[in-house]
Amino acid sequence: MSEDAKKIGLGLRVIVKEVKSELRLALPEGTAARVGPAAGAGVSRVASRRATCRYHAQMHRRSALAFLATLGPASLGALPSVARAQWPEAAAVPGGVALLELGAAGRPRPSATYGGRPVLVRARGEAWVAVIGIGLAADPAQAQSLVVREADGRERRVAFSLQGKQYAEQRLSVAPRHVELSKEDLERYERERAHLGAVLRQFSAAREPATLRLVMPTSGPRSSSFGLRRVFNNQPRSPHNGMDIAAPTGTPVLCAAEGEVLDTGDYFFNGQTVIVDHGQGFLTLYCHLSAIDAERGQRVAAGAPVGKVGATGRVTGPHLHFSVYLNAQSVDPALFLPPA
Ligand SMILES: [Zn+2]
Repeated sequence: MSEDAKKIGLGLRVIVKEVKSELRLALPEGTAARVGPAAGAGVSRVASRRATCRYHAQMHRRSALAFLATLGPASLGALPSVARAQWPEAAAVPGGVALLELGAAGRPRPSATYGGRPVLVRARGEAWVAVIGIGLAADPAQAQSLVVREADGRERRVAFSLQGKQYAEQRLSVAPRHVELSKEDLERYERERAHLGAVLRQFSAAREPATLRLVMPTSGPRSSSFGLRRVFNNQPRSPHNGMDIAAPTGTPVLCAAEGEVLDTGDYFFNGQTVIVDHGQGFLTLYCHLSAIDAERGQRVAAGAPVGKVGATGRVTGPHLHFSVYLNAQSVDPALFLPPA
C-alpha cells in the first residue's frame, strides 16, 4: 500500500470514528444500545447529555449527516474534519492548551518559547501554530507572551491572555502519618522528583508528533478530577495533574499515540510508571501500573500495550492515572481524547 493510501485509510477510520461518536450523541431515545459495543455503557451518559444539550445534539446530527454525504477518498486531504481530528481542543486557561497562529506556513518553521521552555509548533493548513501548555499555576491576571524566533534569527513577542478557571477543592483530614513522610521516604521522593522533572522537560525537536489527538489509554469510567486542589490537614498539596480512569488490576494500558518510551520506573507516589515522548515536548505518562510492558527507547504505536492497570505507589485502589504534558506543563487530558 502506498504511503498516501495508508494515510487515506487512517483518515477514513478517524472520520468514521468521529462521525459515529457524533451520531451517538444525536440518537433518538432508546436507540443508543444499537450503535456499537461502547454504546451500552454510555446510555445513561447519552441520555443525560441529551437532556441538557438537545440543541447541540441536533446540530451534531446535521453536520455529521452532511459530512457523511460528502465522504469520498479523493476529497479526504481537503476535509476540515481530518485537520480538526489532529488538534487538541483549545482552552487558554490554567491547565489548558493555547493555540496561537504564528503566520504563513510557506516560510521555514519558527521556534517558540513560553516561560523559557521550547513550545511545540506545527503547520495547520496555511499557518504555523504554537501549541502551548498552560500550567495549572498560571495566573490569568498576568499578560502572557510567547517568544517567537524566525529561522533567520529575528525574534518577536506574541502577547496572549488567559481566561480564569476555578477547579474544585477537596479538603481531607487524615492521620498525620499518611501525609508526613519519613526521612528515608522524603529523600527518595526528592531524588525521584529531580529525575522526573528532568524527564518531563524533554523536548525532542526533531520528532514530529504524528497527531495531537489521543486514543483512550484504557477502558473504564474517567474522572473529571484534573486540576482538583487538594488540601490535606489544612496543608495544600499540588493539584491533581491528570485523569484517573477506574479499571481492574491487569487491564491493558495502551499507548495514547505513537512515540518512544522515554522513561520507566517504580516511584514513591506514582508507582510503576511509563512515560512516552511523542515529540516536541508532547509527552504522556501512565502511573500505578501492576506491570510495565515496554522498555526505555522502544518505539510504540498508538494503541500498543505499555503496561497493565494496578495500584502501585500512593493510591487507594486500582486505576490508571494518565497525564499529558506540553512544554513541561501538565494539561487536561480530556482536551486530547475522544468525548466521554
Ligand atoms: Zn490521579
